Amino acid sequence: MENRFVTWLEIDLSAIEDNVRRLCALTGTPLMAVVKANGYGHGASQVARAAASGGAAWLGVARLAEALELRAAGLRLPILILGVVSVAEVEAAVAAEVALTVPSVELARAYGQRATALGMQARIHLKVDSGMGRLGVLPNEALAVVHEVQRNTALRLEGLFTHLARADEHDPAPTRAQLTAFQSVVDGLSEEGRPLPILHAANSVAALNFPESRMGLVRVGIAMYGLHPSAEAPLPEGFRPALTWKAQLASCKELPKGHGVSYGHEYVTRGREIIGAIPLGYADGFRRARPNTVLIKGARVPVVGRVCMDQCMVRLPAPLPLGTEVVLIGRQGSQVISAEEVAVRWDTNNYEVVTGLSARVPRLYTGER
Ligand SMILES: *Cc1c(COP(=O)(O)O)cnc(C)c1O
Repeated sequence: MENRFVTWLEIDLSAIEDNVRRLCALTGTPLMAVVKANGYGHGASQVARAAASGGAAWLGVARLAEALELRAAGLRLPILILGVVSVAEVEAAVAAEVALTVPSVELARAYGQRATALGMQARIHLKVDSGMGRLGVLPNEALAVVHEVQRNTALRLEGLFTHLARADEHDPAPTRAQLTAFQSVVDGLSEEGRPLPILHAANSVAALNFPESRMGLVRVGIAMYGLHPSAEAPLPEGFRPALTWKAQLASCKELPKGHGVSYGHEYVTRGREIIGAIPLGYADGFRRARPNTVLIKGARVPVVGRVCMDQCMVRLPAPLPLGTEVVLIGRQGSQVISAEEVAVRWDTNNYEVVTGLSARVPRLYTGER
C-alpha cells in the first residue's frame, strides 16, 4: 500500500477498547477515561469513543477547550475538567454540561458568583489536597468548604476527590497516608447524614494496585493507552499499547569516509557508510537527546548526528529503497521500541513522550469496531 504521509501515528482503537474493558473488569468500578492533552497524544475524541465502547462511564480532561471538543464530536458521557477553568469560562462549561473542579475556596466563591449572575447551576467536584501539594483544599479545611458550597444554590456538589502523588512507587505508605487523610474528610461528611457525592481518588496505578482507592470512580489515563504507569509499577499482563509511530525512509546514500553528518558535524563517517534520512525531527516530538535508535527491516539502527527540526539521519547496514518503513515507537518484526524505552533515552517518562508528539504528525486509526 502506498503511504500518504512521510511520518504518521497508527492508533489501534481496539487496544484502547480492550484495555478499558480489562480495567473495568479488574477494578469493578465506574471508569473515567482521561483524555486530556489530545488523549495523551492519541486523539481525544477517537480515544473517548473507543473507551466508551469498552465501558467507560465518564471522560476527564484538563481544560475547557478539551471538553468542548469532545461535545462537538458528539460525545455525551459526563465530563469532568480536572484542571482549572477561568471564571470567564464558567458559562460555556455549564452550557455544555461539563463539571468543574473546585480547587480552592476562592474559586468556589468565584464560580458560584458567576453562576448566580448567569442564573445557572454549576456541577462541581471539590478537590481535597491530601498530600499532592498542588490543587485542592487541605483536609482540615475541607468540611467548611463543603458546607459553604452546599449553601450556595448556584453550585451542585457532584463529587469530592483527591489525587495521589506516589502510588507508582514500591512503598505503599505515602499513598495510604493520603487515602487516610481523604477518608477523614469523607467520614466527617458521612456523620452529617446527607447523601455523599461521588468519591474518587485513583489514577491508573492506584486503580490497579490500591483497591481501597477505587471508591466510586477510577480516573484512568496511562493504563488505558497500554502504557506502564512507572518502572516500579508495570501494567499486569494482557494490556496492549495502542500507539505506533512510523515514517518512510526519505533518502539513502553512500557517504565517503570522514564525511560530516548534520549540524555541527558531531558525527563523522568512519568509513564508507550508508546514511539514510528520516523525515521527522524535534518539531514532531523526536528529541535531540542521544543516543536515539529506530527500527528498519526489523533491526535496530542508530540515529547519527544531531536530530534536526524536520529530519534525522540513520546509519544503515545496507542500501534500502526509498519509502522503506521506519518504526520510531512500536513493533516491527520481532523487535519493539516501547514508549518506555524512548522515555529512558530521553530522561523522562512515557507520558511526556506520547503527549509530546506534535499535532503535525497525522494520526491514522485502526481497529474501530
Ligand atoms: C491525568 C490525571 C489522571 C490520570 O492519571 P494516569 O496516571 O494517566 O492514570 C487522574 N487524575 C487526575 C486528577 C489527573 O490529572
